[in-house]
Amino acid sequence: MEQLRYRGRFAPSPTGPLHFGSLVTALASWLEARTAGGDWLVRIEDLDPLREPPEATGQILHSLDCHGLFPDEPVRFQSRRHDAYQAAIGQLLARRQAYRCRCSRKLLQKHGGYHPDHCRDGHPAPEDTPYAIRFALTDELSHWQDLLLGDQQQKVAAELDDPVLLRKEGFYAYQLAVVVDDIDQNISHVVRGSDLLDMTAQQQQIFRALGAQSPQWLHIPVIVNDQGQKLSKQTHAPALDDQQPTANLVNALAALGQQPPSALLNATVDNVLAWGRENWRRHAIPLTSRQARGINPDTHLRPDH
Ligand code: GLU
Repeated sequence: MEQLRYRGRFAPSPTGPLHFGSLVTALASWLEARTAGGDWLVRIEDLDPLREPPEATGQILHSLDCHGLFPDEPVRFQSRRHDAYQAAIGQLLARRQAYRCRCSRKLLQKHGGYHPDHCRDGHPAPEDTPYAIRFALTDELSHWQDLLLGDQQQKVAAELDDPVLLRKEGFYAYQLAVVVDDIDQNISHVVRGSDLLDMTAQQQQIFRALGAQSPQWLHIPVIVNDQGQKLSKQTHAPALDDQQPTANLVNALAALGQQPPSALLNATVDNVLAWGRENWRRHAIPLTSRQARGINPDTHLRPDH
């Protein structure tokens, strides 16, 4: 089989500035790409303007620069890719792998997850009312090898789990856009937080439906706060302090189970990254969030001041 060039990416949704958890993901994907001698890309997944403060994208890109994480190609913005998503939807609709649906969540709940109007089987929602487009999943027990977590199995239930590809409000959904762009950018390896693990089996079916091979996945534990919640805008994770990139990177390496010497705290950003590359051990990455915190809890979270 043809050996694919390693191409990885960091693909944040710009719902706020980078926080420590997103730096850990960015750094892990950068280290994996660099140690494989591959390319590392940045893609801004700006699909939902209602959840994205306009300044967030600039803040994220600035933070990545401050931390020495420079992509090998111009940054891609999903907000400029609507034609590609529309084309993919057209392809899936034509092959009956997607369907127009106007069922509300409430209606679906009432019918145990089944579509009462049979929009899925031959009676799509009329075009003159607001509708969503859903992907028609196939029943499957999906298997894959996660590069960190090993053997994975996930059950996919046709109809009950059918994900939205285009929302009624007219926004393209993450499940579609992530696959279309991973295909278009020839992404061979995806490193991301394990909060997205559950999305993977569905994404595999969308890759297949679009005639592409799935990338390899590596899910790293999400970084949690003292209450065990994932760091995010919702849990009020503090923005990264771009004034102390060295300390942030050293802490991120520690959260990834690497053992950076404390002398690195006085090093330059480039030196910390060089140390990370030379000493990167994928199998030292903790498997769970609890372990990720346990390695060096004091340095993981700076107090929110
Ligand atoms: N945009 C997604 C997020 O910020 C990540 C997409 C991915 O890595 O697959 O959660």
